[in-house]
Amino acid sequence: MKRNPRWRTDRVIMMTLATVLAFPALAHNDHDHDHEHDHGHEHGLGAHVHGEAMMQLGIEGHRAEIILDTPAVNIIGFERPPRNEEEEAALESAVEYFRNEPLLEPGQEAERCQLENARVQSALLHEEGKAPDDGHAEFSVTQELSCTASLAEGGIRAVVLDAYPDIERLRLEWVSDDGQGASELTPAQPVFQAR
Ligand SMILES: [Zn+2]
Repeated sequence: MKRNPRWRTDRVIMMTLATVLAFPALAHNDHDHDHEHDHGHEHGLGAHVHGEAMMQLGIEGHRAEIILDTPAVNIIGFERPPRNEEEEAALESAVEYFRNEPLLEPGQEAERCQLENARVQSALLHEEGKAPDDGHAEFSVTQELSCTASLAEGGIRAVVLDAYPDIERLRLEWVSDDGQGASELTPAQPVFQAR
């Protein structure tokens, strides 16, 4: 698996994730559309490919920090401002999901993760509802989870793939106390071992 050269050490990525979570404006700018258009993909998708998404995951024992970047079409079926009530409802329900539902769960059936913090960003959520000039829009989701089991030991299930199977391929890069790695998940294969 190809590794992102930016991730030189575990500490670097944990700090990077912590910085992004603490200062989201560094990663995205809610109010400067041009800036977001130019730099909004830096930590996530390179080229935006429909059906694909990118997740970066930092694991510390029972805790995890997640950044998910996905084309909006994978989640709501369109990438422009909603045109009717049905589309508005789809957008609202996606945002509710990302704000309230953990994207990951421990691999063991009985264990759960609790969402401690979540943030959702998308050009589709700007008040003007203006889609980016290239006609593509994304969701960028950050979440902090606290789980009942160690995520490094029992495997992890990307439950976001159960909820949104139009993410046909989830490229995953993770880092934990013990190491780092990369993986590709699909709705048929949503479980992985971070070790
Ligand atoms: Zn697109």
